[in-house]
Amino acid sequence: MKLYNSLTHKTEEFVPNEPGKVKMYTCGPTVYHFAHIGNLRSYIMEDVLEKYMRYVGYDVKRVMNITDVGHLTSDGDTGDDKMLKGAKREHKTVMEIARYYTDAFFEDCKKLNIKIPDVVEPATHCVDEFIKTIQALQEKGFAYEAGGNIYFDTSKLDKYYVFNDFREEDLAVGVREGVEEDTNKRNKADFVLWFTKSKFDDQELKWESPWGIGYPGWHIECSCISMKHLGERLDIHCGGIDNQFPHHTNEIAQSEAFLGHKWCNYWFHVHHLNTDDGKMSKSKGEFLTVSLLQEKGYLPVVYRFFCLQSHYRKSLVFSYENLDNAKTAYDKLIARIAQLMRAKGGAAVDSAAFDSLKAGFTAAMDEDINTSNAVTALYDVFKADTDPATKLALVADFDKVLSLDLAENAEKLVAEQDAAASDIPQEVLDLVEQRKAARAAKDFALADSLRDQISALGYTIRETRQGTEITKN
Ligand SMILES: [Zn+2]
Repeated sequence: MKLYNSLTHKTEEFVPNEPGKVKMYTCGPTVYHFAHIGNLRSYIMEDVLEKYMRYVGYDVKRVMNITDVGHLTSDGDTGDDKMLKGAKREHKTVMEIARYYTDAFFEDCKKLNIKIPDVVEPATHCVDEFIKTIQALQEKGFAYEAGGNIYFDTSKLDKYYVFNDFREEDLAVGVREGVEEDTNKRNKADFVLWFTKSKFDDQELKWESPWGIGYPGWHIECSCISMKHLGERLDIHCGGIDNQFPHHTNEIAQSEAFLGHKWCNYWFHVHHLNTDDGKMSKSKGEFLTVSLLQEKGYLPVVYRFFCLQSHYRKSLVFSYENLDNAKTAYDKLIARIAQLMRAKGGAAVDSAAFDSLKAGFTAAMDEDINTSNAVTALYDVFKADTDPATKLALVADFDKVLSLDLAENAEKLVAEQDAAASDIPQEVLDLVEQRKAARAAKDFALADSLRDQISALGYTIRETRQGTEITKN
């Protein structure tokens, strides 16, 4: 299986550290607000990656943090504390905000069929680990104290900008959001490991530390939580592309300085979702959440399908028109599966046909998780010259990875169609039977006149490969 690795800028054959096992880490949400659908695109695509790894037989352990402390509004350690800002906005405590939005995040994940990682760890549970790691970094000469805070010294590394060869002067970390630059920093790219001189007088969450009472910086949590549960060598680190710098760059800096060797082999970054007015989280002034899409009548799984129709390394444009197209395609997909269910009979699965169609799906997924081609492989199943039982088995198999509730929603549709059919008056059913007999006898003039009589009673009939469909006008 091939994966694009942001670290090498190449698509590479995936080789785990330990054969058959995958250690995977995901940056979790900062729980100060609802997740917008752009954030959730990342979690959907990471979920597909994880499920595909399991599908091909890897034993996967996946860990995710929950950021409930330390994340400032600018990722470069400036601005306000996001959690504190959320608490003030809603007149609640920081912990109440964290609990509320953590639950909301997992609620959204459930709606979108995103599996919860094996380990989910809030940053506030690991402060001891952060302190120990920061102390070790200080002992190794990678951290310094200035103005009461502890900073990571990026000049001590052979290479700091590991993802891209930035030019220092282009970055202007700390000044890009109009916030004063932190004069304690020895180098522009240095970042805070531990704050003791909080600029927020009302900071609620503080801990004792060797440097005084304070709280951790944002970046240190991912390194520590990952090492706590996955050890010194990580196979895949996932996240949104916006986290590549400075967050992931800083994670690598501190982890490798601490460990003295390479930490993570593959970096999987999901690209942006933009709306047609160029914003990431809003459309026509509305904050785009899963609940909002539901209020507008979309199944959450339709949003998942919309994401899967596109490759994770392409920017995706969200508009209601695009989502409507995905909905239409999804509804058609479900209708085709429902037809297969009606036609299934007792046939056994044709294993040769199954294997060859499955090969189309795995070939797409093996090529850097190309979900767009994997969806095409799903359509190929319908077109294939094989029996409904085999097709249904393939749909169920692919859906272990795609998680689009295909069988469930098709079963619902069949039940709805049956319920609607049971409301059809006997008079209409009798005419349908007479028409069937007329067609069998090749009396097409009679068949047409019976169709007109049925139509006059308010029903339409349609011949499909699976038989006659009756619908109310
Ligand atoms: Zn992270």
